[in-house]
Amino acid sequence: MEAGKGTQGAEDGPGVVTGRDTLSAEVAGHDAGTRWDYAPAPESRDIVRIAPEYGLFVNGEFTPAASGRLFPTVNPATEEPLAQVAEAGPADVDRGVAAARAAYEQAWRPMPPAERAKYLYRIARILQERAREFAVLESLDNGKPIKESRDVDVPLAAAHFFYHAGWADKLEHAGFGPSPRPIGVAGQVIPWNFPLLMAAWKLAPALAAGNTCVLKPAETTPLTALLLAEVCQQAGLPPGVVNVLTGDGEAGAALVAHPGVDKVAFTGSTEVGKQIQRTVAGTGKRLTLELGGKAANVVFDDAPIEAAVEGIVNGIFFNQGHVCCAGSRLLVQESVADAVTERLRDRLGTLRLGDPLDKNTDIGAINSRQQLDKIRDLSQAGEAEGAQRWSPPCELPERGFWFPPTVFTGVSQSHRIAREEIFGPVLSVLTFRTPEEALTKANNTPYGLSAGVWTDKGSRILWLAQRLRAGVVWANTYNRFDPASPFGGYRESGFGREGGRHGLAAYLDA
Ligand code: NDP
Repeated sequence: MEAGKGTQGAEDGPGVVTGRDTLSAEVAGHDAGTRWDYAPAPESRDIVRIAPEYGLFVNGEFTPAASGRLFPTVNPATEEPLAQVAEAGPADVDRGVAAARAAYEQAWRPMPPAERAKYLYRIARILQERAREFAVLESLDNGKPIKESRDVDVPLAAAHFFYHAGWADKLEHAGFGPSPRPIGVAGQVIPWNFPLLMAAWKLAPALAAGNTCVLKPAETTPLTALLLAEVCQQAGLPPGVVNVLTGDGEAGAALVAHPGVDKVAFTGSTEVGKQIQRTVAGTGKRLTLELGGKAANVVFDDAPIEAAVEGIVNGIFFNQGHVCCAGSRLLVQESVADAVTERLRDRLGTLRLGDPLDKNTDIGAINSRQQLDKIRDLSQAGEAEGAQRWSPPCELPERGFWFPPTVFTGVSQSHRIAREEIFGPVLSVLTFRTPEEALTKANNTPYGLSAGVWTDKGSRILWLAQRLRAGVVWANTYNRFDPASPFGGYRESGFGREGGRHGLAAYLDA
């Protein structure tokens, strides 16, 4: 594995098969003959101006929190503090919701839908114009590789605004009845894994449908949501239509519980989703929850192995595995299990871990120390329960939060690493013999968000896709997103859909 600078070893615990003995000679030999090293290709930070301090975005202006309190946001790749950010409390939530209510009554709801659309188009275009700035800021605050923030997060966020702008004046013809109405004020709480993209997923459909918003970004990744607030100013969005309250879980809880909020949309952990459901029960508020997952990525013996291995790598190592729909359980047919895991190990040997701003980096930093601790704990549990752990030879940077790509083989259904969401670059490999066994194992999870199927046979794809209890099933691909395609789960993965016509329905009183 190509790694960033530094000396700290990979996370080898007792009984860890690191691959140094089994693979490094092979890979080194291969290296010596055919592989060229990449020169560093760092993206410049100069395009972003990070202020020392940020206020809350309420009623079109940045203002301090009522308490005056601030909290730091750090670069997880270096632990360097990036900025101090205002910490919203209950008085700020009152202010944000009041601003959203006034904007709803006086500006946004009465506005002709075609006019609303113009603002969304404008926001989309500004996101494209400032794409590089957003990508660099996202990688600094979140730790994700620049090639992902540049090629996935930011373009998809712009695409969500474009797509929903197109819907704004066509809702009467979209099958929601003759006169679909907005719901009112939406309280939206988002996580840290796709900070800008999740903000776009929440704001774009809500605004297109005529609602106003109070958004609470995650504590560890507030900066791109605040830059998006600046874009709202730049687009001339009427004050109060979008409000951004940075803060911790308590601010999220206060927002969700606020009596002035008509609709709650949450993406995050199943545990917090359940708390929110309890808070909202009986209040008449509308609710959508996009929660965790433990997706099966099922590889049959007739699958094109090279393509499947790329799909497996993308499925679990994209965004360091901080993905609710990550293909964290690889189910591979027994007859090809050895061939697949061998190719997978070879491929992991070529992934580059290190500076998120380097354009060659494949694996960036873990978003926070807390998340790193969780990944370490679950990986240790995997070993303690008897699974075999493997990581490519890998040096981790000395500072920051890092975890090497890790594969567990010999995993059984009862292991914690096969059942719990790790939310990190850790793959659990299980095997199956028949399609029925694959189906039973894939569905043996309390979650139901996503799944992948790799096979040459269309009939097998359809057979399995119809029976998998997952909101999204990818066939011979993985982690493909499009604003027109509804995304969401059921059971412990939540309910409601985001994207497409279904996603709009969640913001309409039809
Ligand atoms: P949380 O669910 O705690 O956080 C998601 C968002 O909710 C954040 O903005 C958070 O604020 C806020 N929040 C926290 N508590 C409350 C509350 N009681 N009421 C309302 N809002 C609240 O996820 P974590 O960041 O703590 O991650 C924990 C685990 O959750 C991860 O290890 C992962 O397994 C899973 N996860 C799943 C995600 C998914 O998309 N499925 C996304 C993120 C995490 P704050 O940032 O201050 O905590």
